[in-house]
Amino acid sequence: MALRLYNTLTRRLEPFVPLDPACPTMYVCGPTVYNYVHIGNARPYVVFGVLAALLRRRHGNLRYARNITDVDDKINHAAREQGVPITAITDRFAVAFREDMSALGVVAPDVEPEATRHIPQIVAMIERLIAGGHAYAAEEHVLFAVDSFEGYGKLSRRDPDDMLAGARVEVAPYKRNPGDFVLWKPSTDDLPGWESPWGRGRPGWHIECSAMAEAHLGDTIDIHAGGVDLQFPHHENEIAQSECAHGGRIFARYWLHNGMLNFGGTKMSKSLGNIEKVHDLLRVHPPEALRHALLSAHYRQPLEWSESLIEQSVRTLDRLYGTLRDLEALPLLRGTSDDPGDRASRHGIPLVVEAALEDDLNTPQALAEIAAIAAEARSLRNQVVHGNVQPNSMQRLNELRADLVGAGIALGLLQQSPAEWFGRGASEGDDARIQALIDERSAAKAARDFARSDAIRDQLATEGVLLEDTPQGVRWKRA
Ligand code: AMP
Ligand code: ZN
Repeated sequence: MALRLYNTLTRRLEPFVPLDPACPTMYVCGPTVYNYVHIGNARPYVVFGVLAALLRRRHGNLRYARNITDVDDKINHAAREQGVPITAITDRFAVAFREDMSALGVVAPDVEPEATRHIPQIVAMIERLIAGGHAYAAEEHVLFAVDSFEGYGKLSRRDPDDMLAGARVEVAPYKRNPGDFVLWKPSTDDLPGWESPWGRGRPGWHIECSAMAEAHLGDTIDIHAGGVDLQFPHHENEIAQSECAHGGRIFARYWLHNGMLNFGGTKMSKSLGNIEKVHDLLRVHPPEALRHALLSAHYRQPLEWSESLIEQSVRTLDRLYGTLRDLEALPLLRGTSDDPGDRASRHGIPLVVEAALEDDLNTPQALAEIAAIAAEARSLRNQVVHGNVQPNSMQRLNELRADLVGAGIALGLLQQSPAEWFGRGASEGDDARIQALIDERSAAKAARDFARSDAIRDQLATEGVLLEDTPQGVRWKRA
């Protein structure tokens, strides 16, 4: 089967053929660590993590870099507000980011370069750009000269006037062209800075990714990915910098962009304030349901985030884990082999599921295939428990169970035992989650939102948590 990916550079679905079939390379723009990330930020890391795992299965190897942006004006601002050094902010939120990603089952990169550890490479790249006539120093800044790169705009396909408007570039008097962007800027004594040929200063955001991609993956990489909001100016500028620093050699062969996660109808974004932090969501919802929700839409489509989306994912997982639990309960299944079924498989993953992912990461289709396997398993199990046992029924049920768990591997789902999934109320951390849901239900009731309060009661009931309304408030117990 061929892997096809939608390449933003060509606006086409293309077969993916890496430069080195023994080890493709992939770079995904990482977070700026000045706060907890929101669930929209998690979308690229979840979906491109699914791609990373797929590439590892197909090619046996992958070099995947996902950076940490740890120098940025937003970080400086947060540090100043809190009266702490920037590393106090960046260290704390880089750790929190890794914890959040790991809770969501996000596939880890092979390298996680930090911008502040690549200042010499950044300075060297800027020097090369100046030497090649692609950048110039002006008033302690260094700017990239967009007129010097013929291909400028080839990714976002905008005309120069639109690009300028989109970038909201500050038109400083020292810029030769208003679209020129900053590679290096001066730092006052109270700001983080490094010595450089242009005085003490710090890098612009775009050059960091170009320098880190070069340092860890070489001049030409196979896949570069990130959210569609980064297409312009960030990715356009990365292309300009890298291709000019590398004598015109192509920077990234396939550009992949995820659609935006919306909340309340508009893009979830820190600047708008309509965010739900992963850190907070994890306290009230099973992490696997958040992951399922993110994978329920195709990665290039927008996805509307909502409470009901999460509830739907919880219900779907309840059903799938319920099927697994029912299959495990069949006495004859104990001790029989875990071989996957006659559905051909790769690494235990049924090929129908693998084929869906190889079709430009069609996760909704992969989930539909999983649902179909589960439906077949439930129907066969019903026949068996009603005494209608065919000679190969038990073997088939065993195969379907292996297919279900195998399919889950591809998406990072269904890897707990049913007991763990349903027993998720058993831990102490979960008591807080249950209490938070009960509080939310009380608030919903007070606001006469009975649909919501009933939905919470039902959700808790499926987890085996029973509520009792008493004059002292709501009490709960496990069934
Ligand atoms: P940032 O830290 O803002 O650079 O964002 C980190 C990653 O999250 C980038 O790949 C962004 O494109 C992506 N991103 C930011 N907001 C959203 C959103 N609402 N939906 C999906 N992806 C997003
Ligand atoms: Zn980047």
